[in-house]
Amino acid sequence: MTRSTTPVYPPDVLSVLETLGKMAKCPCGEVYVVGDCGLPWEVARCPTCGSAIGGTGDHFVPGNATVTAAELLNQ
Ligand SMILES: [Zn+2]
Repeated sequence: MTRSTTPVYPPDVLSVLETLGKMAKCPCGEVYVVGDCGLPWEVARCPTCGSAIGGTGDHFVPGNATVTAAELLNQ
C-alpha cells in the first residue's frame, strides 16, 4: 500500500466559499456575503468599522467591491 500524497489543503475550499454567495469587501478589510446574485440589495453597517456596506440598485456603496475566494486566499 502506498500512502496518498494528496495535499492536506482541501481542494474544494474555493467552491465551498463560493456556495455562500458572492463576497464583497469593506474598505476596512471586512469581508461579507452579498448573496446569491452577487448584487447588493441593501445597505448595512460593517460590524468592524461601522461604515456603510452593501448597496442598493445593484450598485455598491463607494469603497466596496466584490472579491473572489481566490483573492481572499491569496492575501
Ligand atoms: Zn468595515
